[in-house]
Amino acid sequence: MIYRFTCIICPLGCTIEVEVENGKVKEVRGCTCPRGEEWAIEEVTNPKRVIMSVVPVEGGALPTVSVKTAEPIPKEKIPELMKFLAKIKLKAPVEAGQVVAEWQGIKIVATRGA
Ligand code: SF4
Repeated sequence: MIYRFTCIICPLGCTIEVEVENGKVKEVRGCTCPRGEEWAIEEVTNPKRVIMSVVPVEGGALPTVSVKTAEPIPKEKIPELMKFLAKIKLKAPVEAGQVVAEWQGIKIVATRGA
């Protein structure tokens, strides 16, 4: 099977093909640097995403604050993370950049103050 991606690591946007045979990466074509190759292999074998969401804040100027994971998490863990985030309720004040929670060792960071 051949997977085709546009690399998102830098603005060059190389078109990368990853050929997978019997569940293993056989060949990577089209990337012009090792970072792109590493990303493309990970995208096929263990795709990860930085997750953004919104959580409620009590007593703030705004009723919610946007948050994100400090690092990408495996895509299959996204539903579990969303259940965790659904239970969070913050108290004002919240500063942009503040670590507001931690989930399985991953920091959850506010991207806006409230
Ligand atoms: S493969 Fe390398 S040069 Fe090409 S878009 Fe990805 S990071 Fe940029």
